[in-house]
Amino acid sequence: MTTIEQPMTFDQATRRVDHAQMFIDGRWGPASAGVTFATVDPATGRTIAAVPRADASDVDRAVAAAKRVAVEWQFTDAITRAGLLRTLAGLVTEHAEELAQLEALDSGHYLDKARELVGAIPLWLEYWAGLADKVGGRTIEVPGNKLAFTLLEPLGVTAHIVPWNYPLLILVRSTAPALALGNTCVVKPAEDTSLSALKYAELVAEAGFPDGVFNVVTGYGAEAGAALAAHPDVMGITFTGSTETGKTVAKLGAEHIAQVNLELGGKSPTIVFPDARLDDAVEGAVQGFCSHAGQVCVAGTRLFLHRDIADEFLARLVERLRVARIGDPFDEGVQMGPLVSKKQFDRVRSYIEIGKREATLFYGGGRPAGTDVDGYFVEPTVFTDVSPSDRIAREEIFGPVLSVFTWSDEDELVAAANDSDFGLFAAIWCSDITRALSTARRLQVGGVMVNDWFGELPMAPHGGYKQSGTGREEGLESIASYTQVKHVSVNLDDSPRASADWAGAPL
Ligand code: NDP
Repeated sequence: MTTIEQPMTFDQATRRVDHAQMFIDGRWGPASAGVTFATVDPATGRTIAAVPRADASDVDRAVAAAKRVAVEWQFTDAITRAGLLRTLAGLVTEHAEELAQLEALDSGHYLDKARELVGAIPLWLEYWAGLADKVGGRTIEVPGNKLAFTLLEPLGVTAHIVPWNYPLLILVRSTAPALALGNTCVVKPAEDTSLSALKYAELVAEAGFPDGVFNVVTGYGAEAGAALAAHPDVMGITFTGSTETGKTVAKLGAEHIAQVNLELGGKSPTIVFPDARLDDAVEGAVQGFCSHAGQVCVAGTRLFLHRDIADEFLARLVERLRVARIGDPFDEGVQMGPLVSKKQFDRVRSYIEIGKREATLFYGGGRPAGTDVDGYFVEPTVFTDVSPSDRIAREEIFGPVLSVFTWSDEDELVAAANDSDFGLFAAIWCSDITRALSTARRLQVGGVMVNDWFGELPMAPHGGYKQSGTGREEGLESIASYTQVKHVSVNLDDSPRASADWAGAPL
């Protein structure tokens, strides 16, 4: 088992992290070139830590370590792998408060939300620990005296390129199945949010995973991320992030025929029928576009209101937004924190300016009252009179910006909701369950919630249609994302064969 030479330290009072180092082959260390970059507290704009900036040589070291132990880990029995995941789940629970504080500090999740997210992580570890010894192949009925069956085998070294919106949850939701099913892992966190991944690596080591099975390289996407996706020894890539970067990663993986799972962007519709319970639907719509300040792949940023209830709905929506508590993630009662970075802040602000030219600004558009002027806070912003061809209606903004449409005809509604390059998720608010389900079936999306807002769970598959992705995370469906199939056929007929027996054999 690895000894931790100099674990990262975190002082919550000063909001400062020291000794942030990468975790490669069970050891902590700097980037080979000795270069670091700053990670920033999005609530204040101040630097929290210097993080190693990996280059291709660091990625090589991490992949080499993961490759060295890949076969040993594959043939480690599943019960042992499951036991390690369970130990890790216990350690995450033990260190939940520190993980949550790091996540809030680095990514801008308000502290209670960060606690909820970290508190859920053992569910993923337990789920995959439970499945580790239950996943297997099948026997196949073939003609003749033969026994044919399949083996589900790991891919080998898998890369996990993680975004900044849910840094630890997204890391765990792909590495837990990968490890449970016998793969080794190299993780590249987003440059804005590396800290919870490094703390988690400390717990992986403490749980007793063998050196090299789990590695974390920190750095820039175009440098370390691209080197990882392009590495010929990486046999599986799980990428979560924007559709544009996903296309780049898919091309890099295609060069060496890696299996690539893409969890990409969205522009999800929230659909409200005239018989919906309005208070619930309003809360769902607010969650839909304001949850984590709109930095959510499934964010419901296109709101389709039936004409009969549109005015009343919008009045209630504004009432609800006026009382939303926006501020420092560590302040009591805060429900929405800042955007993750200056880059994201500038991007969202520029979309708000585009929206003002394209449509009617109905609510928000500015900086929330009382927030730190150096922090990256944006008010929930609602646009009406939006045309389906407007950029704010088509592009993933990844901020709390909502486009409102009205409808009266169900066929037109479905066509409008499906009029998107994305196809990740939809929410339907409707008391008539037959109407709700018939609409759900016609939507071109990977997930639908009826009378509920999105909740991620390890047992329910998550992924997108169209340009929202390929492959699935979570649930039994995601086993295919971390395994490959071997067909074995055994001839049970031991009598010698005459050469004539081979003639006419089906090819
Ligand atoms: P990206 O999609 O560019 O980043 C996601 C991850 O990919 C990060 O770890 C990033 O590293 C890495 N990466 C970036 N470029 C490459 C590359 N060439 N090869 C391999 N890996 C790479 O997201 P951004 O941070 O740039 O955000 C831009 C937009 O992406 C957002 O506004 C939003 O629309 C969308 N997004 C969607 C997410 C989703 O869940 N659907 C999640 C995050 C973003 P690094 O951070 O170091 O660049």
